[in-house]
Amino acid sequence: MYFIANWKMFGGLNSLNSIHKVLKFLKNFRKNKKIKIIYCPPSTLINPMSKKLKNTRIDVGAQNCHQNQNYGAFTGSITPFMLKNVGAKYVIIGHSENRQEGETDRLINMKIKCALKSGLKVIFCIGETSKEKKGNKTKQKLNRQLKIGLNKIKIKKNIIIAYEPIWSIGSGLIPKSKELFEIINFIRNRSGNCKVLYGGSVNPKNISELNVINNVDGYMIGGASQDPKKLIDIIKKSYI
Ligand code: PEP
Repeated sequence: MYFIANWKMFGGLNSLNSIHKVLKFLKNFRKNKKIKIIYCPPSTLINPMSKKLKNTRIDVGAQNCHQNQNYGAFTGSITPFMLKNVGAKYVIIGHSENRQEGETDRLINMKIKCALKSGLKVIFCIGETSKEKKGNKTKQKLNRQLKIGLNKIKIKKNIIIAYEPIWSIGSGLIPKSKELFEIINFIRNRSGNCKVLYGGSVNPKNISELNVINNVDGYMIGGASQDPKKLIDIIKKSYI
């Protein structure tokens, strides 16, 4: 199971202390089980965090990257190579909060290719708006995002897909189990069998409801992941 902690634009150096609780918990938790925890802090914390997490069961990822592999005159941007150089192993690409800032499916495709070339694993986010859901356009939207986002990418073993309905992010709403089950299968079939995670308002209270379906490979957790107690609770309840 994957648990991706997306810290978004939160956290300073003192936030790194909160990881100790999670590390302590993981020391004795299901030692032989495959459990993958990936913290994605703001870029400013990637280096100190990856130093802290060296030789632990937690990896570090970035929240976005530039589509260009080479250095260049791109003020404010970071190449995937630079992220790797400071300790990131993963990068989130296509998060709806960045799509809302103007990222297109084509740009996302370029970013994914560039990140993979640089040796990073990719957490590729897709999801529909509330209007699209109401208009029965969910599958059409996901199909387009997958088709263009994964265009000309033959080897997909280093890509994880996070299904994050936009109406669910930060709203407290989650999809109905039956609907989610169907969409996860839909995505898996159209992505060449990538791992598929769910993200959007996951918290200790609704995790048992989400766990009813057995075809999801893990969760991407935003707000709740900044609180180590909540994150530990989510992980624990996912294995009941
Ligand atoms: C996210 O933004 O990736 C996310 C899952 O957010 P939240 O859990 O806060 O809805």
